[in-house]
Amino acid sequence: MRLSGATRVAGVVGRPIVHSMSPILHNAWLAAAGIDGVYVPFSTEPGRFRAFAESLRGGSVAGLNVTLPFKGEALALADEATFRAASAQAANVLVFREDGTILADNTDGLGMLGALAEQAPGFDPAAGPVAVLGAGGAARGAVAAFVEAGCPQVRIVNRTVARAQEIASALGGAAYGLPQAAQALDGAVAVVNATSAGLSGSEGLDIPLAAAPAGAVVMDMVYKPLKTPFLAAAQASGRRTVDGLAMLIGQAVPSFEYFYGQAPPKTVDVRALAIEALGL
Ligand code: NAP
Repeated sequence: MRLSGATRVAGVVGRPIVHSMSPILHNAWLAAAGIDGVYVPFSTEPGRFRAFAESLRGGSVAGLNVTLPFKGEALALADEATFRAASAQAANVLVFREDGTILADNTDGLGMLGALAEQAPGFDPAAGPVAVLGAGGAARGAVAAFVEAGCPQVRIVNRTVARAQEIASALGGAAYGLPQAAQALDGAVAVVNATSAGLSGSEGLDIPLAAAPAGAVVMDMVYKPLKTPFLAAAQASGRRTVDGLAMLIGQAVPSFEYFYGQAPPKTVDVRALAIEALGL
């Protein structure tokens, strides 16, 4: 990599940040596209996040991806937010404009839709109801993305049903507890796991997948392991599946476009790089 006086700088901020895949993805794309740019990891003390982000106003840094635990604070400090970020109540992208203002976006939902389009070609989010499992930040982003994509009904299923009800009343949709999951899956064109259940070392989700139509697409946002018990069960029943790594890469694509002004090149296999880096 050769840096110059014109190098475009962007990065990712979180705490901890050392395990972030974003520098691997963005720097591979930059190198493949021959862009004079760099993408760096930043870690900051929780009490210093706001001062850090404020200091970047004006465009000396093109933008930042934001990860845990700063996504809510990132949204709060922005001058303008997209519908997606406002709905998710969290920002994973901050764009530092030259006029000193900050735009917040949330590309997780776009990443989810991109992953569905890539790994389940022909899937149409507007074709019928979808079931989103979970009611955390990732689920909120997913519900907002499905609503924006014209889904006729989003069904939110969560262990703590009050959290699902909160999202349903804010964004539209119907709320279900885990005991009612079969009802939520009935007739769904997609079932998306946005809970943290199934992460390596944690228990899998106990969801009656058989209640979903045979043609339903099943997606898991968890990407470690790549084939979660939930996806393995869906595959065993012959359903099409979509993994969380495709979403991770999918959310990075619009971020790259914000920071470097062009789509990432397709000439580098960033999925293979991520699989190697994550030890999947
Ligand atoms: P979060 O805010 O902590 O929410 C966690 C959700 O999981 C809650 O709805 C919680 O239910 C539910 N949950 C946890 N353990 C459970 C269990 N054993 N059984 C049933 N439900 C359980 O997390 P988040 O930020 O939304 O992230 C959720 C997952 O998505 C994480 O694994 C994260 O890594 C993944 N994610 C992936 C991507 C990607 O690019 N692939 C992007 C964003 C997030 P309660 O409300 O009842 O506690």
